[in-house]
Amino acid sequence: MPIHLLPDHLINQIAAGEVVERPASVLKEVLENAMDAGSTVVDVQLEQGGVRRIRVADDGCGIPKDELPLALERHATSKIASLDDLERVGTMGFRGEALAAIAAVSRMSITSRADGAPHAWRIDADPRELAPAALNHGTVIDVADLYFNTPARRKFLKSEGTEFAHCDDVFRRVALARPDVALQLSHNGRVSQRLPAGTREARVRALLGDDFLAAARSVEAESGLLRVHGFASLPAYSRSSRDAQFFYVNGRFVRDKLVTHAIREAYADILHGSRHPAYVLFLELDPFGVDVNVHPAKIEVRFRDSRAVHQFVYHALNRTLATSGAGAGSALGS
Ligand code: ADP
Ligand code: MG
Repeated sequence: MPIHLLPDHLINQIAAGEVVERPASVLKEVLENAMDAGSTVVDVQLEQGGVRRIRVADDGCGIPKDELPLALERHATSKIASLDDLERVGTMGFRGEALAAIAAVSRMSITSRADGAPHAWRIDADPRELAPAALNHGTVIDVADLYFNTPARRKFLKSEGTEFAHCDDVFRRVALARPDVALQLSHNGRVSQRLPAGTREARVRALLGDDFLAAARSVEAESGLLRVHGFASLPAYSRSSRDAQFFYVNGRFVRDKLVTHAIREAYADILHGSRHPAYVLFLELDPFGVDVNVHPAKIEVRFRDSRAVHQFVYHALNRTLATSGAGAGSALGS
């Protein structure tokens, strides 16, 4: 066949392969949009592990009627306008491709009422249709029947329980980063998490439990433009899996080899190889010092000065664990 341009719809379905791996990836994108919109109350409803339906309602700034069709276009965003913006991006999103990708592999609608608008509007992705709607404020994104039109992808979905567990992980990651936002998660009509807005500590307690906080040290260190804060477990609270490890860079949950290594090293003398520490740590640095545009789902980042970050995280944790008295302190011999 001769070289030819692909139709938009197919381009979006191909792109969806990168952004929308499973229901949890949809939830991540939609939740991050709600955060970027300045929401204070967010309600998440899932059906059948998110495969049948993901519905997220927020009370954020909303989308004006004439921008609703654009929200569904690829490379359309309200968050950056230049390379300069990209290099110091402060929002979770900026690629302008999530909604287009999700719309290409599901039945999606957006209902939204922009601040100051007389009423809400609803747009259906396919067929594209804009109509007046009822909504007091904010935005409701409704994603139904994920992969209904891409059977090859649908085959890779796991059981309802597994897909829900992935969605729950995403929900917890966002919830830990944003204690200032009230969040609720329901699955098949039953509330599974209800989190009022509150302090960082209260949010950590709600999600990781009293046991974790009782056996954790509060971490707080600053050096130059780097700051890390949060909680890290003492050896008494180690786990057999990595299920309680949360690391954020400028509010974004990331999985980073360098950081994981620095943390491992800090625990090396006090924790057995088969045990894993639990932690919720927030690294803050000048946005210029980190590239978040490495991966479509943005779970990987690249540090400009990775050595400095490694040393900083290592020393901050090492010091905290060493000065924590009893067990940890003596085990470190300090
Ligand atoms: P990105 O987040 O990278 O900009 P998306 O495809 O996720 O791209 O969203 C496209 C645009 O739609 C956003 O830039 C934003 O203007 C708008 N948008 C999406 N979700 C919301 C929301 N919940 N509230 C307000 N605006 C939203
Ligand atoms: Mg987005």
